[in-house]
Amino acid sequence: MVGCAAVMKTTRSTKLFAEAQRLIPGGVNSPVRAFRSVGGQPRFIKRAKGAKLYDVDGNTYIDYVLSWGPMILGHAHPAVIAAIKKAATLGTSYGAPTEWEVALAKEIHAAFPSMEKVRLVSSGTEAVMSAIRVARGFTKRDSIVKFEGCYHGHSDYLLAKAGSGLATLGIPDSPGVPEDFAKHTLTTPYNDIDAIRQLIKKHRNQLACVILEPVAGNMGVVPPHPDFLSALRQLTAENGILLIFDEVISGFRVNYGGAQALYGIKPDLTVLGKIIGGGLPVGAYGGRNDIMDLIAPSGPVYQAGTLSGNPLAVAAGLATLKQLKARGTYKKLETNAKALAKGLGDAAKKAGVPVTQNRIGSLLTTFFTPSTVVDWNTAKQSDTKRYGRFFHAMLDQGVYLAPSQFEAAFLSTAHSAQDIEKTIKAAHAAFKKL
Ligand SMILES: *Cc1c(COP(=O)(O)O)cnc(C)c1O
Repeated sequence: MVGCAAVMKTTRSTKLFAEAQRLIPGGVNSPVRAFRSVGGQPRFIKRAKGAKLYDVDGNTYIDYVLSWGPMILGHAHPAVIAAIKKAATLGTSYGAPTEWEVALAKEIHAAFPSMEKVRLVSSGTEAVMSAIRVARGFTKRDSIVKFEGCYHGHSDYLLAKAGSGLATLGIPDSPGVPEDFAKHTLTTPYNDIDAIRQLIKKHRNQLACVILEPVAGNMGVVPPHPDFLSALRQLTAENGILLIFDEVISGFRVNYGGAQALYGIKPDLTVLGKIIGGGLPVGAYGGRNDIMDLIAPSGPVYQAGTLSGNPLAVAAGLATLKQLKARGTYKKLETNAKALAKGLGDAAKKAGVPVTQNRIGSLLTTFFTPSTVVDWNTAKQSDTKRYGRFFHAMLDQGVYLAPSQFEAAFLSTAHSAQDIEKTIKAAHAAFKKL
């Protein structure tokens, strides 16, 4: 595909999208899939293998979306598929405990020692919602602090300044969320320790928790300033406020032990998702014993789920984590991501297109702005129209980037040096056209 100038055939995708729009709001089951922020129409995917996506029109793409993060081993990894098949033959759900849930909790606890107890749920959204409920139950306080541009799922009171999906659609807050629900959510700029210090000073007796992505991935990739996480840890501890790390993206991604291992900070509660389900629906939350013991049935904070700890999802997650533990995994991801970042940066420079790149391990965003990006305000200086043109120029050459400026490019262990080379070659052609 790469280097081929002819625009791809997309007849089947176009037809399916027209049909989908009659039956499904916007034609998609999650908004950012619809390509609204880059224009054009989404491609309907037929199958995927390794680093490649194959669409219904027979086009092939090198995939840097990876289902928005979970597919860190690439698509249809043989060990993961075998685990799912094996689990499926034993039944798909029991509504009773299994030994595999214990195994996954053990594995999560080993990687994230701060998660002394772990509860499995079915999505990241659900995990965050539940972690905040228990934080409120524990502190007996109502208000929470989140950072502008961080996304924590689509639950009512978290749809305030929530990054990519919303930013892309231009919905600052969502209709359908009563003001009464959102009024307990305070927002403040990412990486600004003075701002959060002021906020805490003013509201300390009402604050149950501060929640953040310790490496932000939903306004594009924004790493924490060197002192930001440690200052937050200190500030929250001093004021009896719980610190929640939403590591739904960063967990098992920036490091096996997530951002908390990378930066050496211990939160009170942690939320996981995406990778721990190996591409099946999963979320998890966990933390200190004294907090987690408040959850039903050991305590009064209610949280439940018919499909929680689903055997297929748990099997896929366990198989994924097992593969990730192989020696050299994160080094390979780092090497390939570094080469990709350098290649994209060089291509932009050669074409005279000003960009800023943020990268932590295998998470990368090329912002179409010359300025440093440290928070939502600086991220949103990016030229999103230009990104849209770049996105389509890459897509036409068989490179599937995120259909939004404010997302990460994800790498998998299945991406080869050759995939990276092809991508960089495509980028040279794409940047030249801007
Ligand atoms: C994706 C994501 C969520 C929500 O997870 P879902 O499984 O989509 O509900 C929460 N937090 C972060 C940081 C995420 O990236």
